[in-house]
Amino acid sequence: MTVKAILSAKGTSITTVEPAATLGDAISMLAERRIGALVVTGADNRLVGIITERDIVRMLAKHGASALELPVTEAMTRKVVTCGQAETVSRVMERMTAGKFRHVPVVERERLVGIVSIGDVVKFRLEEMERESSALRDYIQTA
Ligand code: AMP
Repeated sequence: MTVKAILSAKGTSITTVEPAATLGDAISMLAERRIGALVVTGADNRLVGIITERDIVRMLAKHGASALELPVTEAMTRKVVTCGQAETVSRVMERMTAGKFRHVPVVERERLVGIVSIGDVVKFRLEEMERESSALRDYIQTA
């Protein structure tokens, strides 16, 4: 199964933030949308980084409340691991495990088309496993 199947179910909306926005702005967006990561985009909607709850917590631990005034660029990760829609869900899971992160933006021809979180991947795998075990049960009953 591919990333495209996840995006078809959850949609392609991506919450982005400008590089110059403050960590305070980023926190408000994360809280409002009930999400854990924001994709940082620059001119032409180009991906320039990713910022997650963990990055913000780290900055708060280091600078205290004054961190809230810092720009997103101070805390974001610039080297973002992405995936394509045609990639398999297992491959994305492997990448999340190896890189110890829980969010992977989906990019097609340098254009952002969605984002997949570890929650999406786990939900998808559980549904897939349930479908497989139900098919096996049906097969055994009719054999
Ligand atoms: P997360 O587990 O997604 O909260 O991210 C943990 C750390 O990895 C944070 O420093 C993030 O900025 C970074 N990170 C999250 N997603 C990615 C990604 N797709 N590529 C590279 N780094 C990431």
